[in-house]
Amino acid sequence: MLSIRNLSKTYSGGVRALRGVSLEIAPGMFGLLGPNGAGKSTLMKILATLLDPDTGSATLDGLDLILNKDATRRLLGYLPQEFGVYPKMSAVDMLNHLAVMKGISKSGERKEIVEGLLQQTNLWDVRKKALGGYSGGMKQRFGIAQALLANPKLIIVDEPTAGLDPAERNRFLNLLSSIGRNVVVILSTHIVEDVRELCSKMAIISSGELILEGMPAQTIDVLKGRVWSKVVPTDAEREAIEKAYPLISMHRVGGLNEVRVYSETPLGEGFLLVEADLEDVYFRELSRHRPN
Ligand code: ADP
Repeated sequence: MLSIRNLSKTYSGGVRALRGVSLEIAPGMFGLLGPNGAGKSTLMKILATLLDPDTGSATLDGLDLILNKDATRRLLGYLPQEFGVYPKMSAVDMLNHLAVMKGISKSGERKEIVEGLLQQTNLWDVRKKALGGYSGGMKQRFGIAQALLANPKLIIVDEPTAGLDPAERNRFLNLLSSIGRNVVVILSTHIVEDVRELCSKMAIISSGELILEGMPAQTIDVLKGRVWSKVVPTDAEREAIEKAYPLISMHRVGGLNEVRVYSETPLGEGFLLVEADLEDVYFRELSRHRPN
């Protein structure tokens, strides 16, 4: 169990990136959702021992992650937002090198682990190719391979699917979901679909504050019967709706505006009741907690 208590962080320029965030995270896939600038990377960096918080604590099964950085690094797998590689090195050589750094010193054991990971991440056929020539998706899968070295108990993956094409993204999400059930995996993302597809628990953060925590399906249930949709042909009509109702979101569909609004009572005027989804939950929570 990962226990995060009251973490706060203000950067030297005065930006309050985290404001008293507390979370209990059990093994399994946990989605941390929030818009750009919400504080996700700051939280991930604190958990990955790269940044100290101003206040608060984080413990994994009793181990204090902030005070015991060396011990934490031994049980941590971290895939940062920008994952640098040595472009001229091949995947197999780089993994082997990282395995040595992680303290896997017996060469037979190391070979077995490295080869197993290259197979698991579907990089076996390109294992001898220079990492500089890898596609975005291949790089991210290599990132997972290195994060899985030395059997981590905590895996942190920061914004992994940004910039991947749909096929690469699918392959990457399948790989993430295959990672052991008894490991805490935190997936930080601004992409609602990533969380919907993978995570049994999630939290939303905005402006450094935790604004919702729960199981995706349960958070959607709360909106059941309360999300109304209307297709509006003109921008003027859309603006009128925005003024009159609590807007959840606005999408363009085939050149038209689809607006989704929240209402506990039936709406006339061409509104249709629609099935709530996780994106409705996300946008509704963000609009309810928008800082003034
Ligand atoms: P997210 O990962 O959700 O996009 P971040 O944690 O990167 O959010 O950023 C949270 C806030 O802190 C943003 O306003 C960002 O500009 C600011 N920030 C991030 N890193 C630094 C830094 N090193 N120095 C100053 N401000 C920072």
